[in-house]
Amino acid sequence: LRNEVGRMERLSLVGQMAASITHEIRNPMAVIRGFVQLMKERMPGEQQQYFRIIMEELDRANAIISDFLSLAQNRALAMEMSSLHEIIGEMAPLLDADANMRGQSIEVELCDYIPPLMLNSKEIKQLLLNLARNGMEAMGDKGVLRMKTEYVQEKERIELRIQDHGVGIPQEQMQHLFEPFYTTKTRGTGLGLPLCLSIAERHNGKIEVESKEGEGTTFIVSFNRSA
Ligand code: ADP
Ligand code: MG
Repeated sequence: LRNEVGRMERLSLVGQMAASITHEIRNPMAVIRGFVQLMKERMPGEQQQYFRIIMEELDRANAIISDFLSLAQNRALAMEMSSLHEIIGEMAPLLDADANMRGQSIEVELCDYIPPLMLNSKEIKQLLLNLARNGMEAMGDKGVLRMKTEYVQEKERIELRIQDHGVGIPQEQMQHLFEPFYTTKTRGTGLGLPLCLSIAERHNGKIEVESKEGEGTTFIVSFNRSA
């Protein structure tokens, strides 16, 4: 018991530290970004690119901080009986806008019946967003991202598939996908999938990946029906 308490205290200390670091680093970064933006506007055309790079790198650092915060703060969650379909419905306009900006589109296919689940909707939204963005980032112009739900009655299991027709994942990369900071993107954080995994695990769910190079990737998130 003593050990258990010690572990919980450590977790919450890391969580607390992450929250203050986020606050203390983000504010000065926002100020820097604002002034860089101002300087960029006053620069002649060919020199603006340096300022654009500075801003992109600031944005990337910011993304790492927020993803890390979400990861570090995996405290006990407020779970609620909710409808996964409702959550997908609430996310759809955001994902749609994201896809449109990339010249892509989203297709959502919801099964007729899905039992309600004990979940934390904020976290499930984070999971959806991260998997959907990865799918979009793997595809080019005109790519179509599919989201599909299924209730496997005999196993009492709810499955959510997020499928892209992007570049695919080479076999040798598969084992690294969920490692923190593993990324193959110049502006990636490598924290998206570790975050998705920790969210799925907190919901007693799991994540599987099917992928073929050059053809695309499907992430399958599955949850057991809540009692
Ligand atoms: P990031 O997106 O910041 O790189 P993630 O943890 O979200 O970090 O993903 C880690 C890596 O997994 C990516 O850099 C990419 O190589 C690979 N990956 C994830 N999702 C896909 C996908 N849908 N298609 C191809 N590769 C993917
Ligand atoms: Mg990602």
